[in-house]
Amino acid sequence: MKKAFFSGLLLTLLLSTAPGFRLPLAPPSLTARQITSQPLSQSPIIQSPTWGFFAHKRINRLAVLTLPPEMMVFFKPNIDWISDHAVDPDMRRYASKGEAPRHYIDLDEYGTPPFDDLPRQWSEAMIRYTDVWAVTAAGDTTPVFGRLQPMPEGMVRPYKDFFFRQLLPRFYQDDETLDADSLNAFLQANGITLRARAAFYHEHLSEHGIVPWHLQKMQRDLTEAFKQRSSRRILRLCADMGHYIGDAHVPLHTTSNYNGQKTGQHGIHGFWESRVPELFADEEYDYFVGKPEYLDRPADFFWQAVFDSHGMVDSVLSMEKNLSRTFPADRQLCPDMRNGLSVLAPCRDYAAAYQSALQGMMERRMRAAIHAVSSAWYTAWVDAGQPDLSKLDVPLASEQEAKEEAELKKVFGQGKILGRPEEH
Ligand SMILES: [Zn+2]
Ligand SMILES: [Zn+2]
Repeated sequence: MKKAFFSGLLLTLLLSTAPGFRLPLAPPSLTARQITSQPLSQSPIIQSPTWGFFAHKRINRLAVLTLPPEMMVFFKPNIDWISDHAVDPDMRRYASKGEAPRHYIDLDEYGTPPFDDLPRQWSEAMIRYTDVWAVTAAGDTTPVFGRLQPMPEGMVRPYKDFFFRQLLPRFYQDDETLDADSLNAFLQANGITLRARAAFYHEHLSEHGIVPWHLQKMQRDLTEAFKQRSSRRILRLCADMGHYIGDAHVPLHTTSNYNGQKTGQHGIHGFWESRVPELFADEEYDYFVGKPEYLDRPADFFWQAVFDSHGMVDSVLSMEKNLSRTFPADRQLCPDMRNGLSVLAPCRDYAAAYQSALQGMMERRMRAAIHAVSSAWYTAWVDAGQPDLSKLDVPLASEQEAKEEAELKKVFGQGKILGRPEEH
């Protein structure tokens, strides 16, 4: 058990505004036999959204509480909004195809640590992992740029310009054709004789997730929003950023084996990031993480977060594997209620044993996430010149925004995730 560290005020705030914490309820409909017959690897285990909605909301709320007074004056009155909307990015995964990759990165798809060859800048990564083909007059399809084509040194710069003008605006649309005339003009200008009758592209970066790159963009956007003192945008970006930074701190958000599907541990994603924190975080975790720090190099910081997470993947998987062999089989899964449905979830004792085998990893990552979130917000505010937030009003949502929010909730309620289906 951790020491009680909260001041009375802080504790009251947390308890009075936090969403309800529920202990599992055991429905009578499931028999012990049904439970024991379904090990973790085969059970209809809880389908929980990333970090559980619980942890995401907690992370954003607790991050607010660490901010300096000059920021608190604006953030504290909006703490409920920032906390409630911490889960919007997960809800958007039901509405938008481009959303899913923002929540993870499968680092194992890019080799092994220290991943020296992996471009840390998004633009460089997109250029490297986007293939462009031309269809020649003879009807042959030939690769022109991309993964299989080493780029001549002198073309790096011009191609970057071409890429940003011609390719990037077309990203995330179903149509992957390129304007052949533009490509031909570019090829000609750079002394390449190939002429295209038609051209098309395919980007491969999204396939394995983009969270550390997307966070760099968010950091820039948030800094800009602070500069413009655009209150709604600040809140929106802070809430979203808290979510993605939270995801970046989850080890299973950095591997292609994200739900134990390659190691017979289906359901481990929700076990680690939802079940364990829901059971123990408010009871046991030390949420006091200290003041935010200024990030000299936000991009490096975000990369380090996913590298640290990735370094824990082996333990996350192997510890559960070991435990599942030694822990009594009939005490690993227990009935639980989710949205009025009875499901099986890892039992409290089993979850406690897992947490202890990992030496409190979930708590350490949650603390690191809280600190990272407040540090990113703080850095954006400092980089924007520390604007005075004390007189910043938050206008009511415009009609358009209110409509979009209602639509998001509706799509989420009907629910099918676009893109990678499970647990990311
Ligand atoms: Zn997740
Ligand atoms: Zn997420």
